[in-house]
Amino acid sequence: MTRSLDLVKVDDMIKVLYPGTFDPLTNGHLDIICRASRIFDEISIVIADNPHKSCFFTADERFSMLEELVSQFKNVELHVWNGLIVDFAEKTGIRVILRGVRALSDFGHEFELSLLNKSLNSHIETILLPTDKKYFILRSSSIKELAMLGGDISEMVPPTVAKALEEKLKKT
Ligand code: ADP
Repeated sequence: MTRSLDLVKVDDMIKVLYPGTFDPLTNGHLDIICRASRIFDEISIVIADNPHKSCFFTADERFSMLEELVSQFKNVELHVWNGLIVDFAEKTGIRVILRGVRALSDFGHEFELSLLNKSLNSHIETILLPTDKKYFILRSSSIKELAMLGGDISEMVPPTVAKALEEKLKKT
């Protein structure tokens, strides 16, 4: 069977890339992954290991955190990538990038990013999935700040992430 997603023609399967920093993964990210796993045939999560962006968790730590959490989804794979997402797409032949959006400000940023990626590779399409209202205010940077100040983040991240944050903060 061949399905077509507008300009993106995909034989048999619709595979998407879900790129992000995930520093750390929040319940908002996990919800996007969970919903995407029911919509698309395969999801490749791409953890950005950008040497120019300073992260709280190393790429290996972020990989380990996600590995355990996404093992429940049979059609989700994990990758770490330190280059352009369009180059990862080119390497794997995946033409669809999935991104989550919270507020209108996210939309503006994601819209620009999608045009930028398209200007780098005209075959790439971006799909934006709106967040669930429960996760509207969840942002990795605010959660890290909250954790540093001793705030309760237990409803914002999975328990394993909360524990990893607590342990990492003890070491810093
Ligand atoms: P970035 O890639 O900009 O550093 P993240 O790694 O935090 O951002 O997020 C990866 C993707 O997940 C982005 O598309 C971002 O908009 C989305 N996202 C982040 N937090 C949420 C949330 N609470 N609900 C839905 N999507 C989210």
